[in-house]
Amino acid sequence: MGEAGPVTDIATHGAKLTIDLGAITANWRLLADRGSAPCAAVVKADAYGCGIGRVGPALRAAGCRTFFVAHLSEGIAARAALPEAEIYILNGLPPGAAGAFAAHGLRPVLGSIEELSEWAAVSTGRLPAALHVDTGMNRLGLPVPEALDLAGDARIAAAGIDLILSHFVSAEKPEDPVNARQIADFARVRAAYPGIRASLANSSGVFLDGARHDLLRPGYALFGGNPTPGAANPMRPVVRLEALIAQVRDVEAGATAGYNGRWTAHRPSRLATLSLGYADGFPRAISGRGQALVGGVPCPILGLVSMDLIILDVTDVPAARRGAGAVLIGDGLDIDTVGRSAGTIGYEILTGLGSRYVRTYVD
Ligand SMILES: *Cc1c(COP(=O)(O)O)cnc(C)c1O
Repeated sequence: MGEAGPVTDIATHGAKLTIDLGAITANWRLLADRGSAPCAAVVKADAYGCGIGRVGPALRAAGCRTFFVAHLSEGIAARAALPEAEIYILNGLPPGAAGAFAAHGLRPVLGSIEELSEWAAVSTGRLPAALHVDTGMNRLGLPVPEALDLAGDARIAAAGIDLILSHFVSAEKPEDPVNARQIADFARVRAAYPGIRASLANSSGVFLDGARHDLLRPGYALFGGNPTPGAANPMRPVVRLEALIAQVRDVEAGATAGYNGRWTAHRPSRLATLSLGYADGFPRAISGRGQALVGGVPCPILGLVSMDLIILDVTDVPAARRGAGAVLIGDGLDIDTVGRSAGTIGYEILTGLGSRYVRTYVD
């Protein structure tokens, strides 16, 4: 190695996140075909951690015309990446924000009569918006009876309502009877709003009968999450996270490793220390439970995850050496599994993907 040799990305940042844009667009097409309805993309939380600046244009080029984010700030970022797309803001209209929505061409998903009235004053029927109907979450939206009462009211036209939507409580559990109740309630509301598009299905909802209507609204499955837990994942994996092995060391039986000596070697062991920790967004809750792949071999994560480092047991893995990589997500280690190991869901793993990683996009 020359003394002025170039440092690789992974050496500079400690870990590298690779995002497969081709897999995201393939997943979008699979859902659109499966749902046989126009398919939007939910790209809140910076496209589930994958980066709206690259993910948005890739989906637009694949044919996606409608996008959903959570906040006005996310809508402004999405607008910069998507000059011509329909962009809806799921969290609704904060007081006094209607002018900013209008200035950026963003569409609020209105969740109450107050929001509807404030938006109508600015929109005067010219600027579109969606109406959120609550069919069971008790989180955002008008209750079903209020939505039914409001149908045909002049305020609906004055607020430019061009979409009604509702959100599932338990779509990933098809056996839960709440799904059928929500599907029936939303169908009644839809019938009261003829000529206005209706949207109910998130990722898992695309796989529920009676839920698909006029616009699909998947997020998680676009990014490789399994929308049908309990059955094989029909989606392509999108994210690969690889960390640099900073050191490899041999320890005697009885040695401990990491903070509080939480792990004890029960045999002479070889340990590899990875340049990635909870400050990168990798969950500390995975301490002592998860795995990483070294040379394709699953190696236990041992002891407590540190702020910037993780220790692996690589006793039986000759490929483990300083400068090699260890895969924490990808190559068969899917985000649902990583989430389960951390006592959470894959959604939280994705949206936690940190800003320390260097992001590389492939097609
Ligand atoms: C996040 C969200 C979605 C997307 O849900 P996934 O389970 O990620 O597909 C759809 N609709 C609403 C209202 C949401 O908040």
